[in-house]
Amino acid sequence: MRSVWLTQAMAAETAAAITPLEGDLAVDVAIVGGGYTGLWTAIELKRRDPSLDVAVIERDVCGAGGSGANAGFALPMWFQVPALERAGGTDAALHVGRASIDAIDDIRALADKPGNDIAMSSAPTVWAATCQKQSGHWDDMLEQMESRQIHSFRLLEADDIQSLTGSDALVAGVVDTASATLHPGHLVRSLRREALSLEVRVLEKTAMTHLRRSSPPRVVTPRGTLIARKVVLALYGWSLSLPEIRPALMVMMTDAAMTVPVPGLIDSLGVAGAPGFTDSRTFIESCRPTADGRMVVTKSGGALPFGDRIDASLRRTRRSTTELRTIMAAYHPALADVAIEGTWCGPIDRSRDGLPMFGHLGSSPDIVFGCGYSGAGIVPSRVGSHILASLVQERDDAWSRSPLVRQPERAFPREPFRWIGGHAVRAAIERKDRLDHEGLEPGPLTRFWLRFKPASYKPA
Ligand SMILES: Cc1cc2nc3c(=O)[nH]c(=O)nc-3n(C[C@H](O)[C@H](O)[C@H](O)COP(=O)(O)OP(=O)(O)OC[C@H]3O[C@@H](n4cnc5c(N)ncnc54)[C@H](O)[C@@H]3O)c2cc1C
Repeated sequence: MRSVWLTQAMAAETAAAITPLEGDLAVDVAIVGGGYTGLWTAIELKRRDPSLDVAVIERDVCGAGGSGANAGFALPMWFQVPALERAGGTDAALHVGRASIDAIDDIRALADKPGNDIAMSSAPTVWAATCQKQSGHWDDMLEQMESRQIHSFRLLEADDIQSLTGSDALVAGVVDTASATLHPGHLVRSLRREALSLEVRVLEKTAMTHLRRSSPPRVVTPRGTLIARKVVLALYGWSLSLPEIRPALMVMMTDAAMTVPVPGLIDSLGVAGAPGFTDSRTFIESCRPTADGRMVVTKSGGALPFGDRIDASLRRTRRSTTELRTIMAAYHPALADVAIEGTWCGPIDRSRDGLPMFGHLGSSPDIVFGCGYSGAGIVPSRVGSHILASLVQERDDAWSRSPLVRQPERAFPREPFRWIGGHAVRAAIERKDRLDHEGLEPGPLTRFWLRFKPASYKPA
């Protein structure tokens, strides 16, 4: 199930020939996964050392995973500073926070290159409450930011938020002034072009079927084997297929829908060029206009794959088109009858603490991985590419010493308990989100299951 974003971005390309791996190939670095993480890491490595022979393999086309399917909110990592601080202290946490601002500049530099239609808008993202109980979720974080002289967030009054977003359904919120929105499909395809221009070998329709943890490691694919000095696993939710990572990660789908272009209607709502917003439910909802006059809505808490069978869960959204349109119409009633051009879903790879993780796979010094973005990967994947490049180059620097470099620890049970428990937790979260809107408290059973919910990238 391709997203409308990826379909649009690929349709705009003239000569994007697909080259699969045919036969065996020896390279310096083999990167598995052609999304933001894999492509940024390839680009970073070539920028650091143009003599490196780097290959990216992707089982489908670049952007077929989360990178072509997301909502396009490019969020700095200030949300994660409190968790980062717990993991590695204040200096290291602030290093990551600042790096995330640089990452947004890097994306902007890519967007400014001719031919890259990333539609990066400087309209910042609003983090909103849709009921009084959600109000103030940001208080602790704002206080911590203020105490560190970081002025990225601005508190909004109810009137401001409604005039800014065009939605009466938002009762409070903060605006993240350093954030941006963009076209995720064009971003990932621009990264692919950038990688090709740096002479990265981009091998699509080439799935890793087996990873030999030998020295040197070998990435086996149906028609050939990559023999590499170093391997980078940039597999996002598909990292569940790796026994070293599976215990530390859980995957749940997020559903999305995009309307047909209705620029006149979007103009009349006063939301053309306006910021998009995410709400403060545990199963976050988001709504944003696009540069070509459409509206996109997402809702997390979709299908739960059994084991590592992500692809089966990708075939259809958990919510119907009508349900997704109803969610959108709750924010913008005038869009209640607008046709939906497409729906899709994609995985969210949740870690226990909501922070991404990077490191060496088990005891293999030559295989590194990056995953666990927990709902926000556009900016962290660029930050992570510095970390992965430093790990590949065996550098001892601020990147390789980042608190995000850690070993995956067991945080979730084995199957079938993971799947069964996951359904119970998902039902509890849905109950809690509903009760919040009714101004009610959850009962003891709901509270019991809520104790097992993984963190999000946002504080709750
Ligand atoms: C609906 C939705 C909305 C989201 N909204 C936002 C948002 O607004 N802001 C934000 O910051 N983040 C958002 N995210 C999260 C964000 O999309 C991800 O964190 C990010 O795309 C991760 O990039 P990646 O390169 O690590 O993963 P991916 O882009 O998924 O790349 C991994 C690639 O590996 C490939 N692959 C898998 N198995 C194999 C194999 N065996 N061999 C070879 N290749 C393989 C896959 O096909 C995939 O292309 C959202 C995600 C979803 C699903």
